[in-house]
Amino acid sequence: MRSHRTTCKIGACEPFCGVEIGVEEGRLTSIRPNPDHPITKGYACIKGMHVPDYVNHEERLLHPLKRTEEGLGRIEWSDATRQIGEKLRKIRDEHGPTSIATYWGNAADSVSITLANTFCHAFGSPNSFNVLSLEYTDRGAVAERVLGNENLILQPDAERARFALLLGTNPLVTQGMTLLQRRPHVGGALRGIRKRGGRVVVVDPRRTETVRIADEHLPIRPGTDLFLLVAMIRRILERGLYDDEFVRRHTDGVDPWRDVSKEVDPDWAAERTGIPRNVIERTAEAFAEADGAFATTRVGVQTSFNATLTEWAVMTLNSITGNIDRPGGVYFNPGAFDIPSLIEQMGARRNPADSRIGGYPQIFGGPPASVFADDVLSDDPDRIRALIVVAGNPVITFPDTRKIEAALRRLDLLVCIDILPSDTCSFADYVLPAATLYEKGGLHFLTSNFEPRPFLEWKPKLIEPRGETRSEWKIIKDLSRASGVSFLNDPWIDRIARAIESLGFEFGESMLYRYLLMGRIRLGRLKRADLGIELGEIEFGRFFRESIRTKDGRLHLSPPEFVEGLRTAVANESEPTGRFPFALISGARRLAGYNSWTHHIDRLADRLGGNWATLNPEDAERLGIQEGQLARVSSEVGSVEIEVRSSPDVRPGVVVIHQFFGHVYDTGTRASRRHPGVNVNHLHSDRNLDRFSGMPVYNGTPCRVEPIPG
Ligand code: SF4
Repeated sequence: MRSHRTTCKIGACEPFCGVEIGVEEGRLTSIRPNPDHPITKGYACIKGMHVPDYVNHEERLLHPLKRTEEGLGRIEWSDATRQIGEKLRKIRDEHGPTSIATYWGNAADSVSITLANTFCHAFGSPNSFNVLSLEYTDRGAVAERVLGNENLILQPDAERARFALLLGTNPLVTQGMTLLQRRPHVGGALRGIRKRGGRVVVVDPRRTETVRIADEHLPIRPGTDLFLLVAMIRRILERGLYDDEFVRRHTDGVDPWRDVSKEVDPDWAAERTGIPRNVIERTAEAFAEADGAFATTRVGVQTSFNATLTEWAVMTLNSITGNIDRPGGVYFNPGAFDIPSLIEQMGARRNPADSRIGGYPQIFGGPPASVFADDVLSDDPDRIRALIVVAGNPVITFPDTRKIEAALRRLDLLVCIDILPSDTCSFADYVLPAATLYEKGGLHFLTSNFEPRPFLEWKPKLIEPRGETRSEWKIIKDLSRASGVSFLNDPWIDRIARAIESLGFEFGESMLYRYLLMGRIRLGRLKRADLGIELGEIEFGRFFRESIRTKDGRLHLSPPEFVEGLRTAVANESEPTGRFPFALISGARRLAGYNSWTHHIDRLADRLGGNWATLNPEDAERLGIQEGQLARVSSEVGSVEIEVRSSPDVRPGVVVIHQFFGHVYDTGTRASRRHPGVNVNHLHSDRNLDRFSGMPVYNGTPCRVEPIPG
């Protein structure tokens, strides 16, 4: 057996923990954490220990499949590629470029993300959807306006902070405090804040695992974090507790904040959030006075009401207290690559149009996925008719399940490129088998800014691709040729690729890696460095000198549309009452689960055991629901029947149902179908979208709960 140092790859799980994988006779046979890994230092969770199980999975997609009257059956690669190419050409020629769409899901890597986007753009279509628009594009909307570029994502410096304000994030389970942040030891870092005499405050409607190591838990009413933050900002501004020098040197737009924060009366904020006024004010003062503080959010807030405005308030709180680009605050890792410029370059030829439905802007490479179903189901002659899904599972992850099912059925062509048979494959005309990271190797260049410090790491190819699986690079290159569009949406690259191939050489992914690394590091050196290459330390102060993209190099804290949006949010705020008195939360994560991905692995699926609705015991008793009894949970758009359990960890008035279940289709795997669970997205609307990002609400959806007599 040979042992190889590499990283875990379960979906896009944030830390990419360093592991050692044993290989024997072309199979992955063992895995263990790598204590020598410079970033993750021996951490790995239970999910990571099952990497060999998904690579060796007996239900892996190993051959291209085509749907016929008898269902999905094998087809030759050459036939599948030619037929898909012909269909895409025909659809585009008859219905125009916007009839083509792509979607990449959370298991996509940097190369497959690039391929999915550019393949769509090569047709002239702007419809390159992605999973980030279901949970993260609010942050891009804020970064674009405040920092001058959507890809300037700041990360918390927990190792040096003296105050951590965590809103809707449970890093003890997600092993990171912002998407893709590579910090599996975040629990230790948070404990370190307390050891240094600092404070950790968790704002969450649930008593989460992270709450248990915090100083204080603020059990907020779902969807009201914006008002908590604005009340804190108001307190800091009115009491003169802001960092005057930082504000003068680095910000614009504090005065409009003085005005607009007055929209949020402290007593009103206390009543709406459920957090007493004195607690809000005390928290604001402690945050402002701490020598290094950060506020950060994740899914709990990002998939709730007013997501973008809440991120804006977080940015403002961190800014006025002088906690941007300083130790213990939030900072930007410039990484190994200039990602904002690289992404601009890769998207230079794209169609930048806003979404046809709703007029939402493209963020992180595409329009919001939540408009997809309405687009497909519209009568518009230019509506979407073909979808290529790369490493995604829209039928499980998109809001309003019934509608997304109808949209997938209405497509003229659906192609799924994946490793395992997702639920969405049940609707597909073609299913194309992809190689795993361990069968192709690679460099996850798009996440370079999410390392805690500049660091670069190659992930080696360990085994030959199983069956007829192929890298997405080859799949999309061949589909581009068959469809008559330029590979990577670049006619020059396309010509170079053809010229190289005409000489009998391969135009593989290494060409892209060599281009990216040109003038920095030789690819061979990177491949030999099996513990990665350190590229320096974080230099505080550099962000304002080199990275910020606003024209004047200052933080623009008061975009007029956000200021106006805050006034509207305050005016429209209302508590769930009447027909739908509960707030439904679905964004919570469990240690053994990573979206729908881990449901294919027997031991993880068994450990998760499906999903259920959790209520506060007082609510369960009031409704007359016994432990384990079935209940009907209904919202404006749908209704599900689900087992109820009670827990004091859930705030009264809240019902928690975990997402990513509902494996009731004829694809999936035996493991996922053994614990099918219930798809809670039947209850979330695709009409109730964040105004600035088009993201759906998965946390806070008004609903009601009724017992089903046993
Ligand atoms: S936290 Fe677990 S699943 Fe995520 S990268 Fe680390 S080992 Fe893998």
